[in-house]
Amino acid sequence: MRLFEATEQGTVEIEIGEDIEARLEELAERNRELFRERGIRAFDITGSVGAGKTSLIAGMVERLSGRHGVGVIAGDVATTRDAERVTGKGARKVLQINTGGMCHLDASLVYRTMERMPESGIDVLFIENVGNLICPSYFSLGVEARVAMVSASEGAHVIEKHPAMFESAALVVLNKTDIAEAVAVDLSRPVADLEAMRPGLRVVRTNCLTGEGIDEVVEALGLA
Ligand code: MG
Ligand code: ZN
Repeated sequence: MRLFEATEQGTVEIEIGEDIEARLEELAERNRELFRERGIRAFDITGSVGAGKTSLIAGMVERLSGRHGVGVIAGDVATTRDAERVTGKGARKVLQINTGGMCHLDASLVYRTMERMPESGIDVLFIENVGNLICPSYFSLGVEARVAMVSASEGAHVIEKHPAMFESAALVVLNKTDIAEAVAVDLSRPVADLEAMRPGLRVVRTNCLTGEGIDEVVEALGLA
């Protein structure tokens, strides 16, 4: 992060960037410690609005809740729709953060929300980030892994346009693969872009409406 001041004499960089980054990292580390203490494996699920994050989470909760205590934190600018869609799938606790306009979750928001999670009995936590592929990539939540999700309807160039998000992802989920043809998107393009950017990074193709591929996501996260 860099900060500039534009004056009539010219534009100068203000040297506070490192402090901000160090502070953000401190807050992420506090979460990491909390998750470690409580034996929680936490995952940050990012992706645009409509990519299928909530459907993926609901599907994973359904598959895991028999043998794991699953917690879900859903982040959105407004509404409790996502939390409501996950409820009833077997999660032990589902909490919704409304950021009130902020377009990403940050570590301190997640930390404060964790105060409302049961102190024991949760060993898997899915955090649904606010829907966009840009700023959430710059805010570490202190999780084990970030899952970046894209859907076929977002176009063939979605990976190359959002390098920071895909640089920081541990797994990419390519959703709505069933409609790629209908929206004239050749999925080999985003897959090739990913391979160029992150050789060997795992990509799982899903159709979260039918549940296709969700078992593979669960396995890829080491939760099977
Ligand atoms: Mg959602
Ligand atoms: Zn943001």
